Formats: sequence, structure tokens, C-alpha cells
Amino acid sequence: MWGCPQGEGTGSISVGAAMYRRIMAATKDPAQGDPRRNPIGRGTPGPLGDSFSKHLAANGAQVVVRRTRRRKTGVAAFWEEGRAVIAVPARMSIEDEQYWVPHMVSRLEADQRARAGGRRRRVAPSDTALMQQCELLSARYLGSRAVPESVRWVTNQNGRWGSATNAHKSIRISHHVQGMPDWVLDYVLLHELAHLIHPNHSAAFWAELAGYPHLKRAEAFLEGASFASARNIQGMSSDLDGDFEA
Ligand SMILES: [Zn+2]
Repeated sequence: MWGCPQGEGTGSISVGAAMYRRIMAATKDPAQGDPRRNPIGRGTPGPLGDSFSKHLAANGAQVVVRRTRRRKTGVAAFWEEGRAVIAVPARMSIEDEQYWVPHMVSRLEADQRARAGGRRRRVAPSDTALMQQCELLSARYLGSRAVPESVRWVTNQNGRWGSATNAHKSIRISHHVQGMPDWVLDYVLLHELAHLIHPNHSAAFWAELAGYPHLKRAEAFLEGASFASARNIQGMSSDLDGDFEA
């Protein structure tokens, strides 16, 4: 079945090498003789492998500091079995670690709050709004030749994003499309509308969709969503920023 997004708290955050150097250069702490401005590698490094930080997460949970030789620079933060893990370069000094761990934990927590808030704020359009959107899409791309009798969300449709029944001129959209970008929902609606004209995937059917500007992107989005749901992939960040180390 299609997996509902359940990525709460599974986002990861990383600070790539360039950003890391900028933050290090901008961070001053006169009280401590400004240790964080030292290039990485000065000062005493902490132990290799996993250790617990003195800094606790906001919920009181322990924070894992992970030092690996593989990581040369840059800091990454992610959740692992409900625990914040901060991955730092092996040679990072303990002083730098004391700056980076709370910094990254708070960023991770802010990201988690934003994700939770974003989900709550995102309200799916009503069935009436779906019908109105279908009228707009039909007028814009199909010359108003597709005229559905009903358009509605359904929760019992787990194998298909949308479906159209030509006999009843009805369109049903899986609730799994809720929360996807508007241009994806529009594509699913338009696709089903076109099925009211062509109940097949013929060349004539695809020709109806040719005017939709986000066609390829939306198809790729749904293909990716299907792929992820088939493999229970959750919580991946949507961008590739910060995936590099110097
Ligand atoms: Zn189809």
C-alpha cells in the first residue's frame, strides 16, 4: 500500500564545508579565548566513535556525538532511533564540539517543529474545491470537454493516485495525494479529467495533457513517491545541500 508520509523528526541537517568555515569564522567567544576560531584540528579531539554529549536535547534525551575518520569536515545532525546524533570530524576539538553540538541539536529540533507545524497547517481542499479546480483545469487545458459529475477524495484507494469512471463521470482521488504540491494534485486531476474523454492511455489521451506545463515533473514526482512507498523510504531530505565534505 502507499505509505503515508510519516517523517516526523526524521529530517537530517548538515552543514557543508563552506558553510562550516563561514560559521566558524563568524563565531566568537571572548570568554573562552575564542577557541572556536581555531582551525579544526587544534585543541584536543574527543574520542572516536559514539559518545554522549553533556548537552541534552530539549526533551531531556541524551545526544550522541559521532566521530568518524571518514568525516574530514562539516557537521551533520540527524535522528536515529529517536535520539539526536551529531556527526563531527574525528579531529574536531572538544571546545568546538561544545559549540557545535547544542547548535546542531537546536537546528534539528527547529526542523522537527517546522515539519510538524507544516503538516498541521496543510489543509486538504474540500471535495467542492476539487470540483472547482477540475472546472478550471478542464477549461484551461481541455477546452471544457471534460465535465465530471463528481470529484472526491477517497481513503480506500491505495494502489492508484486517482481513478475515473466514465459511466458516472466520476473522479476519485486518493487521500495519499493530500499534502503533495498543488502542481501534482492538478496533474492528477487533469489526468483523470482526460480519462473522461479517453478511457485509456492512448496517444490521443497523452495529447490532451501536452499543454500542462508541469507534466513531466509531476509524473516524476509520483513515480518517486511510488518508489519510496514501495520501499518504505521515509524522512529523506528533499534537497542535496550539505551532502559534501571537503
Ligand atoms: Zn491514467
